[in-house]
Amino acid sequence: MRTATLPFAFPLEAAEILRRRSFILTRLCAQDDGFCTIPVQGIGEDTLAEMLRLYDECFLSGYLKRAMGCLRVTLSARLISSAGKFLCTRGMLKQIKSAEIRMSGDFLTRLDEGPFQLNGLSVATPQEAFLVVFEHELCHALETALYGQTGHSARFLSLAKGLFGHTAMRHSLPTRRQEAARDGLVVGSRVCFPYRESMLGGVVTYIGKQATVMVPDARGEYRDRRGQRYTKYRVPLDHLKKNP
Ligand SMILES: [Zn+2]
Repeated sequence: MRTATLPFAFPLEAAEILRRRSFILTRLCAQDDGFCTIPVQGIGEDTLAEMLRLYDECFLSGYLKRAMGCLRVTLSARLISSAGKFLCTRGMLKQIKSAEIRMSGDFLTRLDEGPFQLNGLSVATPQEAFLVVFEHELCHALETALYGQTGHSARFLSLAKGLFGHTAMRHSLPTRRQEAARDGLVVGSRVCFPYRESMLGGVVTYIGKQATVMVPDARGEYRDRRGQRYTKYRVPLDHLKKNP
């Protein structure tokens, strides 16, 4: 990467990255009590906007505000397949119409005390973990603003390393779907679970915060191609027992 062409200081020294990250963390904790607790209670909309503003100012010399002014940060309770996500929509002429970094609220509030491994960094608190996840998504927004597209290429890795010290993209914080998979639960698994006074058996058709299980039932409202009827149940993952 020809670093001379980037509109902000790059790459940064490791100590400088830590200093800027902890400055941002202190500012965010000072304005949002719910974000300071462990486990985290939540994070306000204002705090999300301030997080973006501070990162842009401290790390990117305000470049994103100039180049991608429409970028917003949101918190989604429904995002459970990953801890964060960058989304953008384009108009007819490929110009960016909207850009969003969506952070998983589920991920944030389930985090306990560290340490965790995240993007190659050792992270001590849930708050710091949230920032490091955000930094990864911010790199996607930045790469899009700079080059028109983004992925996990060498160019992306170089940006993430030079700005935030990230040396990897995998992390040890499992999403619910990964947690379920570790317990051997996948879509198609035969399971049983307690319901009222009895145990019901069925097949998993979706795994999210809860699993969707289709249970054979002569009066059920769902019907498969062979005419078998089912009733749909939503079951907390830890209530499920896998049938051999
Ligand atoms: Zn990514």
